[in-house]
Amino acid sequence: MTSSPFIFQLGAVRGQIFTDGVGVSAPEVSAARYPDHVEQMRAEIGEAPVHGSRNVLLLDAGEERILIDTGEGKFNAVADGLLIPALRDHGVDLGSITTVILTHFHMDHIGGLLTEEGTPTFPNARLIAARPEYDHWLSEATLAALPADRAAFIRSTFAAYERVELVTPPAEVLPGIKLIPAYGHSPGQCAVLIESQGERLLHIADSWHIPAQLNLPEARIKFDAVPEQAIASRRALMERAEQENLLTLGYHFEFPGLGHVRRAGNRRVWIIK
Ligand SMILES: [Zn+2]
Repeated sequence: MTSSPFIFQLGAVRGQIFTDGVGVSAPEVSAARYPDHVEQMRAEIGEAPVHGSRNVLLLDAGEERILIDTGEGKFNAVADGLLIPALRDHGVDLGSITTVILTHFHMDHIGGLLTEEGTPTFPNARLIAARPEYDHWLSEATLAALPADRAAFIRSTFAAYERVELVTPPAEVLPGIKLIPAYGHSPGQCAVLIESQGERLLHIADSWHIPAQLNLPEARIKFDAVPEQAIASRRALMERAEQENLLTLGYHFEFPGLGHVRRAGNRRVWIIK
């Protein structure tokens, strides 16, 4: 049996967070992912092992059943990844998902969109994504530079789904759900702000990967595509999360990844929900 989702309520919206897989890294291994700030990150992380996850958010909002990102799918070492079997095991009919919002097109976010046979995993869903992200990854220049299996996957994914809606962020894509530019980690990455009955949740996608970055926003992870832009986006979102006291979700934080960015003296702290 796959692990159970974390269930919460945001105003009238029911949220469930599924993990597509968890991992644990030694502090020095985690710090080494920040090539310009290895020593500083090592100090921020401390001595405890770093727990990570791929936290996939499912929202039930009226008639809409919305998934934000899809895990690694067949790119996972485990066949199908862990998200798809977890959804099935916990009573989520894949055909009941009406919308999949994609924060960005890295494989650990879009890999679950296709079945092993190459058909849509979510046969009745439309995809919503930011136009800058789509235009980057679907350009012939980008595809030509990718490993062949990834390029083929991207081409066939966006051909397999009949409805792909591209928006220019910031944009309200569904009532109370906004895509916010968080460019840099991937050229067109977006965060997602969800609001219902005055309650709000900020899904930061991969704007930062672990809470230990909160006091070192200038530390770029080696996967940031446009580092300076990623740093600026990260700073802005951290400030917003703190100043507006937003419930915040990190895609790669320890499961389920929900908490608040708070200030303690001259430092930021991550308070788990
Ligand atoms: Zn990621």
